[in-house]
Amino acid sequence: IAALYVVPTPLGNLADLTRRAEDVLRAVPWVACEDTRHSAPLLKQLGARARTLPAHQHNEHEAAARIVDKLQAGEAVALISDAGTPGISDPGARIVAAVRAAGCQVVPLPGACAATTALSAAGLTDEHFLFYGFLPSKAGQRRQALEALAGHAYALVFYEAPHRVLDTVAEMAEVFGERTLVVARELTKLFENIDALPLNGALEWFKADPNRQRGEFVLIVSGAPADAASGEGERVLKLL
Ligand code: SAM
Repeated sequence: IAALYVVPTPLGNLADLTRRAEDVLRAVPWVACEDTRHSAPLLKQLGARARTLPAHQHNEHEAAARIVDKLQAGEAVALISDAGTPGISDPGARIVAAVRAAGCQVVPLPGACAATTALSAAGLTDEHFLFYGFLPSKAGQRRQALEALAGHAYALVFYEAPHRVLDTVAEMAEVFGERTLVVARELTKLFENIDALPLNGALEWFKADPNRQRGEFVLIVSGAPADAASGEGERVLKLL
């Protein structure tokens, strides 16, 4: 079927490509890639003969139009990003929307995603989580974003770049106060590390070993503790 297949690719360990993803990448005539040069070795390794077309954040509208043309001509297209699931802090959403608006089918494949991989090993007991992704890079906007999240009782899931991780955890400690921070670093790779620590001591923990600041990170902050006052109010209401 001439559908758009949304295909997750590994975060680091190539064995995490699913069999279905392999089959799709081998079968489709076109693969839309966030970075065609980055994805070429993966496609080559699979023996995929698909032609590639670029679909990154700076050309998503044009890419969407090209992809819709292919689908309407009866050719299937797979969409991949550099790592993990397209559309999750990665380009893809505009393409998916355009394809659906054109009346064509979108077929999502389950697979690697840094957020869910980190959450599965976080060991936090919060019932809910909120996926935030990347915070704004400008200090003022980042502060505002953190303040807006401070009251949520959900675990908060962030993506962060290594050069910003110290500033971000320092600011999180200031805004969120006493919480648990889970640092999931280099998931599925040789130096994978997952640590849970008090957010208040996190800056010192990162500084104690420069290796802890290297690589790719998911940061998960446990949810805001139930407000003592409103908890009491609820208890009284229940009793009444
Ligand atoms: N679409 C991807 C996904 O499904 O997770 C996310 C892409 S986003 C551009 C890249 C960010 O994801 C990194 O900055 C990091 O926060 C996180 N990430 C990607 N790979 C990771 C890994 N192996 N370990 C930890 N975090 C990772």
